Amino acid sequence: MSKKIQAIRGMNDLLPDASPVWQYFESQVQALMKRYGYNEIRTPIVEQTALFARSIGEVTDIVEKEMYTFEDRNGDSLTLRPEGTASAVRAAMEHGLLYNQTQRLWYTGPMFRHERPQKGRYRQFHQVGVETYGLEGPDIDAEVILLSARLWKQLGLFDHVTLELNSLGSNEARAAYRDTLVAYFEQHREVLDEDSLRRLTSNPLRILDSKNPAMAEMLSQAPQLMDHLDQDSREHFEALTARLDAAGIDYVINPRLVRGLDYYCRTVFEWTTDALGSQGTVCAGGRYDGLVEQLGGKPTPAVGFAMGIERLILLLETLDIVPQEARAPLDAYVLGMDASTDGDAMALAERLRDELPALGVQLHCGGGSFKSRIKKADRSGARLALLIGENERENGQVAIKFLRDDREQRVVEQASLATTLTSLLSE
Ligand code: ATP
Ligand code: MG
Repeated sequence: MSKKIQAIRGMNDLLPDASPVWQYFESQVQALMKRYGYNEIRTPIVEQTALFARSIGEVTDIVEKEMYTFEDRNGDSLTLRPEGTASAVRAAMEHGLLYNQTQRLWYTGPMFRHERPQKGRYRQFHQVGVETYGLEGPDIDAEVILLSARLWKQLGLFDHVTLELNSLGSNEARAAYRDTLVAYFEQHREVLDEDSLRRLTSNPLRILDSKNPAMAEMLSQAPQLMDHLDQDSREHFEALTARLDAAGIDYVINPRLVRGLDYYCRTVFEWTTDALGSQGTVCAGGRYDGLVEQLGGKPTPAVGFAMGIERLILLLETLDIVPQEARAPLDAYVLGMDASTDGDAMALAERLRDELPALGVQLHCGGGSFKSRIKKADRSGARLALLIGENERENGQVAIKFLRDDREQRVVEQASLATTLTSLLSE
């Protein structure tokens, strides 16, 4: 016998039991984006490799070791998208969405990174992201943060997440700071681990992000970017925090928050939780004013974020705050008592779907004995079974059996079934 083929490590199936929570999350996101006037953009999952190499940065973790890159049949180097920002910029430029106008966009979909799979970290994972173009902020910086905060409130997560903020300053200020930082690290070379030594020349700011406890003391003494900000960036940051204060959004300034992607400048932020262990960042973003130009467009200010859907769903499940109605239980299971009434059952189910479009109705299919039919009704998870036997058919009636409550079965006219169900299911 040949070996069964299994899913690729780190890539998950979303099974029927779990999909209602995802649908709940996605519907909350859709409603939110509409309320803020953000428009959805959908881009292909595969792009030219150069798009990511040029935007995310050659010496970032993503580009160095996490991308799924392959050669197309005609020899082009293609990559499964590891994130959404580069594609959004590419599409916006390609279709003239950045020409003399502002954009507020959002997207959702799978992303791919070859990382070590663990709880909250997968090789195919899903993000919801927001990207805005043509707005310099800090008002729009505050808006995207308020938008994310509102989602936490909608989902009941607001008290379980912390907003961390930092400013990376202008490119010039960051370059000067980089020199100061490298000089400091050079003095403490003996404490640097292998990764950090490698980053010392390529991406020294990322060393600040290290979780290595042996480096913690040295890092806590490192010069801070906040003390090296240019005047404009400082004012930008102060205006942003003033907006957040006015909106009643608490935040923690984390001078070591640098983000893993090269394209950020000025505002960077993360929403973190301590309920998920080390995979605690549920949403991350910031300003990337240089990226459009870097990809060949006109200078265009931009700010956005991406959130990890798996981590947010894990958080909802861990805190046990998924509302019952989001579990999408079936309302009714419709069945004939035997083969002679199967046709009537089908007609009744269709009629109910006409009359009550919001009702979840499953029809019994596959025949079987009365006993096995009732068993299937029960297994369906529906609250009610709607039964038609010979008698009910003769009299234009239907029997309502309560599958979840200890209540007497009752018989009603088919003509008034919709009204009866509406009141029964709202009880
Ligand atoms: P981390 O530091 O956890 O690796 P990151 O900085 O690589 O995160 P981003 O590129 O900013 O993450 O992506 C935004 C969000 O997407 C993260 O905050 C996280 O919630 C989610 N995310 C990133 N990588 C993964 C992954 N491999 N599996 C699941 N979710 C992920
Ligand atoms: Mg990462």
